[in-house]
Order: sequence, then structure tokens, then C-alpha cells
Amino acid sequence: MRTSRFLITGGAGFIGSHVADALIARGDRAVVVDNLSTGRLSNIRHLLNHPRFQFVRANITDEIVMDRLASTSDVILHFAAAVGVQLIVRDPVHTIETNIMGTEAILKAALRYRCRVLLASTSEVYGKGVKIPFSEEDDLLLGGTQKSRWAYGASKMIDEFLGLAYQRQYDLDVVVFRLFNTVGPRQRGRYGMVVPRFIRQALAGEPITVYGDGSQTRCFCDVRDAAEALIRLAASPGATGGVYNVGNDQEVSINQLARRVRVLTGSSSPIVHISYSEAYGKGFEDMQRRVPDLSRIQALVGWRSTRTLDEILIAVRDHEQPLPDRLKVESAPS
Ligand code: UDP
Repeated sequence: MRTSRFLITGGAGFIGSHVADALIARGDRAVVVDNLSTGRLSNIRHLLNHPRFQFVRANITDEIVMDRLASTSDVILHFAAAVGVQLIVRDPVHTIETNIMGTEAILKAALRYRCRVLLASTSEVYGKGVKIPFSEEDDLLLGGTQKSRWAYGASKMIDEFLGLAYQRQYDLDVVVFRLFNTVGPRQRGRYGMVVPRFIRQALAGEPITVYGDGSQTRCFCDVRDAAEALIRLAASPGATGGVYNVGNDQEVSINQLARRVRVLTGSSSPIVHISYSEAYGKGFEDMQRRVPDLSRIQALVGWRSTRTLDEILIAVRDHEQPLPDRLKVESAPS
């Protein structure tokens, strides 16, 4: 089989850049298109001179660029989106417009050249569902439209509907995957993500900020494991028209996470609790538990995440503060 030609939208972002790494390592060709709004050149700088890698700085709504890129691609992995709860609450207009118009542009370009499309969705679409674990056939229960948090899940639901409609109506080869909390090196805490925030706070000796009472749980999947899942889905003909959860099913409370971060960074940061309204503004709703049912993806492509929470936290710690810096801190006089 010849080398597959992948186009990764949002490929300078946290998850997309890890997928690009994995594709290049496998011998595929990867073109990244990113407008560098939240993506960063530093995430892909090490790939820039690779003969099978190309970076194009553009908006995915630029029809001329996207048409050209789609015309030379076999598979489009569509990650470009507004992400991060904090960003969404702060700028809901941008979130809704980017996510819906961007996906529409990708599907239209893909249709012209019959590219396979893998659409990134999110566990956020399960919203306030309480039936644990969340499986792909479940009803989706979002909060009211007055609460901007839900704009993200709702915009991704429209993306899913649109992608699946292109599949059914136009026979376009579309696969939807729902990413649960995905963490690892290169993720930024700026938009609210808890793991990089806690690690940075702990390394800086600042208070570790747990929102709410910290009893809420999440399951954290290593981004390199998630990248492997997506590449397997991309290579599986049986995935067409399906929706797949991608994540880890080991649950941890945010209080436990904060304690583990403190231990693994050797930090003496205090763990403090902050109300949701203080953290996100009035009327914010969090979900208490979020656990994926992974049986569907496991049955189709035999994938399971392999890295433990400690392995992930250590990788993020080492990324945030490489060893020589850590030694300097450890040996500094107190
Ligand atoms: N969280 C926290 N402190 C922070 C950032 C987040 O306690 O500094 C909590 C957040 O309220 C949520 C969980 O950690 O309950 C995971 O948050 P994140 O934004 O990483 O992802 P989410 O699951 O909310 O999409």
C-alpha cells in the first residue's frame, strides 16, 4: 500500500500535533493546516524540515486553500476548533462560529475529492448525563442555552449531525470520534485544562486550585494513546458512519488528582478549593462524573489506552520543567 496522505486541521494544537508525530513516525505523509490562534508553531517545529511533513498557516474557512489541500489528501483529520471550557465561557460567539462553520467548510472540501474525514467531537456532548459509563448510543443531555458552557457541546453535536448527514446523504466516508479528557505534554492550562494547570501551580509553589468540592471525577487519557486510537480508526474501513468514544476509563477525583500532582512534583503547594462561580462566573454547571464506555472502539480496532495516570503526570511534569531546571530547584537553598 502506498503512503497515506493525511491532512490535519488544527495540527499545531495539542492533540493534532501528537497525531502528526505518530503519522510521520509510521511513514505517512502529514500536512498540517492551522491558523495558530490557539495552536503553536513550537508544537510542530521539530517536524518542519521533515520531507513527509508540511505546514500551511491558514484558516480552514479559506475555501481556496482548503480546496487545494483536500485535492491532494486521502484522509482529513479535523481537529481545528475552539476548545477549553474557559475559552468557551469567555467567547461563546467565536466558539459556535468556528466550530460549525469550520466543519461545514471541511466537509464541503472533502466531498469534492472524496476524502475520508475523521471528525473530532467531545465527551462534552454527553453533557449532564448520569448513566455511567457514557456509551455512543446514549441520549445527550445538555443544559439550557443561557449557560454558555453548553455552547461547546451543542456546536460539536451539530458537527456530528452534519458529518453523519454527509455520510448518509452523499455517501462521504465520515467517522466521528468523541475525545474524553485527553492530557499530556504540550497541553496548555490557559484555557482551563486541569492537568497542566495543577502541574504548573505545583512546580511554581503556588496554590493548587480545585474547583468546587473536588469530588467530581474525570478519566484522563494520554494524548499519545489517543493519537494511536485515531490512527487505527482512520485505517479501519468498518469505522465509516460510526461514532466512537476515545479515552481512558480509570476514574479519579479532582481532589485525588491534586494530591497526586503534589506528590509527583515534590511540591509543598497548598491545595485550595475555589467555588465554581469564582472560577468560571455565575451560573456555571460542571458534571460530577464522566466515564467512557470503550467497548465499541475496542471491538472494532482492538484499542485500549495503556499509560497510567502517574505516567501521564510525570510526562507533563518533565515537559513543563525539564530535568536540569528541576534539579536546580531541588538543590536550591531554602
Ligand atoms: N478544574 C479544577 N481546577 C482547575 C481547572 C479545572 O478543579 O484549575 C476542574 C474542573 O472544574 C473540572 C475538572 O477539573 O471539574 C476538569 O476540568 P477541565 O477543564 O480540564 O476539563 P472538563 O472535564 O471540564 O472539560
